[in-house]
Amino acid sequence: MNIAIVRERLEGENRVAATPETVGKLVGLGAQVSVEKGAGLGSRILDAEYEAAGARIAPTAAAALKGAEVVLCVRRPNAASLSGVAKGALVIGALDPYGNDKDVAALAKANVTAVSMEFMPRITRAQVMDILSSQANLAGYQSVIDAAAEFDRAMPMMMTAAGTVRPAKTFVMGAGVAGLQAIATAKRLGAVVSATDVRPAAKEQVESLGGKFVAVEDEEFKQAETAGGYAKQMSAEYQAKQAELTASHIAKQDIVITTALIPGRPAPRLITKAMVESMAPGSIIVDLAAERGGNVELTVPGKIVEHKGVKIIGYTNVQGRIPTTASQLYARNLLAFLTTLIDAKTAALAIDWDDELVKATVLTRDGAVVHPNFVTAEA
Ligand code: NAD
Repeated sequence: MNIAIVRERLEGENRVAATPETVGKLVGLGAQVSVEKGAGLGSRILDAEYEAAGARIAPTAAAALKGAEVVLCVRRPNAASLSGVAKGALVIGALDPYGNDKDVAALAKANVTAVSMEFMPRITRAQVMDILSSQANLAGYQSVIDAAAEFDRAMPMMMTAAGTVRPAKTFVMGAGVAGLQAIATAKRLGAVVSATDVRPAAKEQVESLGGKFVAVEDEEFKQAETAGGYAKQMSAEYQAKQAELTASHIAKQDIVITTALIPGRPAPRLITKAMVESMAPGSIIVDLAAERGGNVELTVPGKIVEHKGVKIIGYTNVQGRIPTTASQLYARNLLAFLTTLIDAKTAALAIDWDDELVKATVLTRDGAVVHPNFVTAEA
């Protein structure tokens, strides 16, 4: 079985889909692995390290992809860049299909079996393959580091001979994987932390990390979680009540980190311009939802903007800001999934199309878009 790893083409994407560790394991399973020259440099992995793990270094992407039955990637490749890949080849990555119907249809037309790792079910068996969790956890950590770097005061309480420094008040909006790690990181840095979420289950998790939970806890809130554990779109009425509560809270914060997402929908708008203006100059907002439209009215994706002394950090691909760790975990997620698709005896692909993990993640197959969420995408 031939596996290809190419250098990511998206500007600023420093992650890579395989590391020497995962390449070594794939070679151990009997695979031939081709890595495009320089594919790991953004994550400080040298070609020689891949070679030592048993990979062949290909001079170009086309050379790496020639004859590949499996392509591991971080971002969705465009169909043109997949020419030369065997018909029916598996393309496994964070394909980000929502809102990209044309590209999904093009993958179908390119006759590849595209696997979108974001759809991995959040069940125990698949935890090791959960790219959303591995990457969101790092984004949550990095969001606090970015906030601290822009903040012109100290985060922890300090009792010094020159007097006491009060701790920074930090509010985390959205307590999923990223938000919980942001809470934990802000606590480690000594901040006073509070958090909110629309899912009732989040309350206990926030409190277990030492955060104070802030939310309107009415009947709608009590029902606000899907069977899959995700947030539901809340009613306009709930959003208004919640906004009122959070508005008064935000005005007293030094740092606000927003992480609220709803799968397949634009990010909910949680912070208005007026709320930004209610914060003291020198305050920081980090909008981790910037890539999905942003939780903050003034966010500019990819930029830090300053409005009346409040900095709004809208970095996209925040996990990619710590690419070495992000690649290490992402590559392990992909390896864990790919291993389930390989016959240990023959080292050939042996995909069980009825496996719930395969059914949940395959986007395109045999020239068609097959994922139930995207079957209407036309070529
Ligand atoms: P996500 O990235 O989809 O969203 C981030 C958070 O934003 C969520 O907690 C969501 O409830 C919250 N949110 C949405 N709208 C909001 C609003 N208007 N105001 C405030 N908060 C809002 O979430 P995620 O991190 O992917 O986690 C989703 C769920 O999956 C959680 O229940 C998490 O515990 C669960 N999970 C389970 C597993 C597993 O069992 N293997 C792994 C990871 C996550």
